[in-house]
Amino acid sequence: MNVPVSGWGMESGTAPRRSGEITGPRRLLRRLVQVVAEPITPQERLDQIVSMIAAELVAEVCSLYVLRPGEILELFATQGLEKSAVHRTRMRVGEGLVGTIAARGQLINAADAQNHPAFVFRPETGEEIYRSMLGVPILRGGMVVGVLTIQNKVRRVYSEDEVEAMQVIASVLGEMVVSGGIIDLETYGDLRHIAPESSRLSGIRIVDGIGIGPAWLHEPQVPILKLIADDLDLERMRLDRAVDALHRTLDAMLAQRELGAGEQRDVLEAFRMFAGDSGWLRRIREAVATGLTAEAAVRRVREETRVRIGHASDPYLRERLFDLDDLADRLLRHLAGRTLVHEHAQLADNTILVARTLSAADLLEYGRDRLAGIVLEEGSRTAHVTIVARAMEIPLIGRVAHAMATIETGDIIAMDGAHGQIYVRPGGDVIDAFTKSVQAHAASRQMFESLRDLPSVSADGIAVSLHVNGAFLIDVSEIERRGAEGCGLFRTEFAFMTGQVQPDTETQADHYREAFERAAGKSLLFRTLDIGSDKKVAYWRLPPEDNPAMGWRAIRMALDLPTMLRVQLRAMLKAAAGRKLSVMFPMVSQVAELDRAIAILEIEKDRAARRGEPLPERIEIGVMFEVPALYWQLPQLLRRIDFLAIGTNDLTQFLFAVDRGNPIVGDRFDVLSPPLLCLVEDLVERCRAAGVRLSVCGEMAAQPLEAMALLGCGIRHLSMPPSEIGPIKAMVRSLELAPLRRYTARLAHRPEASVRDWLRAYAIDHGVMLPGTEFEFFQS
Ligand code: PEP
Ligand code: MG
Repeated sequence: MNVPVSGWGMESGTAPRRSGEITGPRRLLRRLVQVVAEPITPQERLDQIVSMIAAELVAEVCSLYVLRPGEILELFATQGLEKSAVHRTRMRVGEGLVGTIAARGQLINAADAQNHPAFVFRPETGEEIYRSMLGVPILRGGMVVGVLTIQNKVRRVYSEDEVEAMQVIASVLGEMVVSGGIIDLETYGDLRHIAPESSRLSGIRIVDGIGIGPAWLHEPQVPILKLIADDLDLERMRLDRAVDALHRTLDAMLAQRELGAGEQRDVLEAFRMFAGDSGWLRRIREAVATGLTAEAAVRRVREETRVRIGHASDPYLRERLFDLDDLADRLLRHLAGRTLVHEHAQLADNTILVARTLSAADLLEYGRDRLAGIVLEEGSRTAHVTIVARAMEIPLIGRVAHAMATIETGDIIAMDGAHGQIYVRPGGDVIDAFTKSVQAHAASRQMFESLRDLPSVSADGIAVSLHVNGAFLIDVSEIERRGAEGCGLFRTEFAFMTGQVQPDTETQADHYREAFERAAGKSLLFRTLDIGSDKKVAYWRLPPEDNPAMGWRAIRMALDLPTMLRVQLRAMLKAAAGRKLSVMFPMVSQVAELDRAIAILEIEKDRAARRGEPLPERIEIGVMFEVPALYWQLPQLLRRIDFLAIGTNDLTQFLFAVDRGNPIVGDRFDVLSPPLLCLVEDLVERCRAAGVRLSVCGEMAAQPLEAMALLGCGIRHLSMPPSEIGPIKAMVRSLELAPLRRYTARLAHRPEASVRDWLRAYAIDHGVMLPGTEFEFFQS
């Protein structure tokens, strides 16, 4: 329950303020002046200041963190947290709530801080009992030098007045930090701020990983010196030659053997198809006919494309327009007789490629050898360049505003893909920290690789099968590479989302056949299309919906457009020929929906048999458990299926009625909550009794602590992004499942909203490995 706003003389039980009494930030500043005037040491002054702020704002905790070398925030003073944590608690910029405040230079006002997505637990501070937190950056000269926070045990929404007071006081503290008034500069003379010559940019994480190296600006623009044609025929000829050269280079790339089959080839083929687009070429030729040079004509058509990009809100249309934009750049390079291959020779090792947009073809041309990372002003998770970057395992951060304007070729760039953070021209301390991280990353990769061929069995001998989630064929190949048992969720919609046209039966069958080949006899669960909500395709205009996550998507759409489902199932049957086919239906909320889908599958199977086509050796039917209503239909449901996969991403938002994409409510619940654990435990029992295999394939399965909780509930099959197989296997092998099961059974009935702290404590006490979390250091 939120406690009404307190502080500023409104605390319950105190008398109302007398009129004329100074309140608000001015009162706090006046108290600050008194403390500053006292003849005490800087640390004593700082201690008094945090106590005074806590008292004035009726907070149980007030803490001040200062930025130190290595982009580290160090706790310098606290009222309320463990005093022994002072100068001991340190966190990286970008890490935890305090680190996030420093990284963004923006305040966080969190009524339920522990369930905030950025929260990390620091056991040495004793802060687990405080729920609410207000933190503001301490700024000086527009740069972050530290963070000031207050915390309360109760859930509390800090008022605008309190926020303003904290900001005012933080601005004064900013001066005092650097002047030495509250920091002993003899001892801590190496204070850092984010230096003016360096800067930090942020974007969205697209491909995880850490990279550090010199920037290379991908500037495909070629200066156009001549705009008006002297000789139209000559310009037409130059254009035709350039178009030929463009086609030839793309054909040559397609002919490369190492391209193999799969998405890299698919995206390049799509790009090649665009290069032959008659409408696009016609528009350029028409522009030449108006008297422009070939270059000026290409540029004019490119400008039109850019105007369309500016107006296109549909992400897929934008993606296609970006392809045309990239093609125009390539054509201009051919007209100028330049290619990326020439530039490639100048690339240093570990280059970070910076671009407004980048086509998959450009990236393939740069190659993977010299690249340590990619920073894009545009970019999305389904863009073609993303698919290729993932395949090449090059970290990629997208939607980085002003990257091209801020970064220059040759600047050192440190990028942290998992947190979407980019450090431009960082200081030596950041370079050291990143270099160490790159080494640590390589060491953990080696450690995970060493586990690859070891069984996924708990310390007390219970087998836990680990599967990969796949969106692209390349992910299916990861089964073998990561030592997984199969693919527990193949999201077939991605092949539809990245294409230009709806794939027909044969195209789909080829795709699924290739997936079977890559799975090499290991299990492969095909999920039928989950289009709708945030997953859209270029060639279908979906109706606007207020609530698309709960709208026309997945099986609902498939049953309303049965031809689409029929074609997909027909393609799967063809591809499976002689092998086991496992089909899973998403977003089922009624058994009747499943019956209709199964009926369509049966009809397709009968038709294939009548045509004399080879049938699958066996067909397994499964359902995603994402809609809570299915729980009350379990007796009927379990009779009809072979496996059930819990999709915790959708399930949690429907279970708590919380839109996780909505920042106002997104941090109000924790998946590690008694209701969710109860539900999972119950599903485990019901599926066991019915002989139905139960797995979890949502994000929960990919996070060590969450996955540990699922195992505690009795889950024995987990499916996750391929990169998480190693960390989760390390966790499984360090864990005894029998005692954890007893412990989790008790947690499922606790009264708290979250049992995260209980599970963390268990992991620490029992030496459970939680790679990639802040508890890693507890493990030897
Ligand atoms: C889920 O909802 O947990 C799930 C795995 O499906 P998706 O993330 O594809 O919606
Ligand atoms: Mg889902």
